[in-house]
Amino acid sequence: MQLTFYGVRGSIPTPGGEYVRYGGNTACVHICLEDETDLIIDAGTGIRKLGNELIKKQSPIYILLTHNHWDHIQGFPFFSPIYQKGREINITPGQTSPYEPDQILKQMQGSVFPVPSDALASNITLKELPESTNSWVLGSAKISRLMINHPGKGNAFSIVDKGRKIVYMTDNELYPPYKKDTEFLTFVKFCEDADLLIHDAQYMLSDMPAKLGWGHSVAEEAVKLAIAANAKQLALYSHDPDRTDEKIDALVEHCNQYIKVAKSDLTLFAAYEGQVLKF
Ligand SMILES: [Zn+2]
Repeated sequence: MQLTFYGVRGSIPTPGGEYVRYGGNTACVHICLEDETDLIIDAGTGIRKLGNELIKKQSPIYILLTHNHWDHIQGFPFFSPIYQKGREINITPGQTSPYEPDQILKQMQGSVFPVPSDALASNITLKELPESTNSWVLGSAKISRLMINHPGKGNAFSIVDKGRKIVYMTDNELYPPYKKDTEFLTFVKFCEDADLLIHDAQYMLSDMPAKLGWGHSVAEEAVKLAIAANAKQLALYSHDPDRTDEKIDALVEHCNQYIKVAKSDLTLFAAYEGQVLKF
């Protein structure tokens, strides 16, 4: 598998000189599976640039959505393959509450966008799964999903392909003040032995309690999850819009101190736009 980060920012795009190293586009990763299937997770503004690559091909595209918050669907109207005649685009919506599987298309209607979704030249299919389906096969990979703790709910995904495992778990509040959909130890099991865990790290303990209940995790807790799950690598993700490059560097250094104290072999980094990882 080859994974590329196209958007790593949480909540809202964050342009500006202080953000260029990690990048300001919102959530989007591309995974090229072992059989070369193009899998995309989330359609934040990062998906625009990815579209400029994928439009050179004709093969089917598969998009998994964690949930429908703007920062996870907002790039879709600017994803050029949707305008490509006959291009097959399959979208698996997140298990949100309320359940609104077509919200990604509904954002292209009325007075907010000039091209309505029913005028698109591509063949877009909403691949809704039965509520009880938590694992399925896509190309050479096995995909699994799990409920996240987040206002409006949604999913985390694990992708296992030829024995390598990537877990994508963003907009997840590990210890929320509201009723949890998933307990910490269930997250640990889901992430067990992952080669890469991509986890929400929008906040730090020092941001609390002001942002408790906002649906994101503190970086220190993401480290705890990665160590408990015996993950090999942890990518801090969904960077706060106010977290400059310098502050993200400091966050990584801070989290590495936890890893050192725990005498763990975990490799930690903050995800940045354009970063490519091979498995
Ligand atoms: Zn969200």
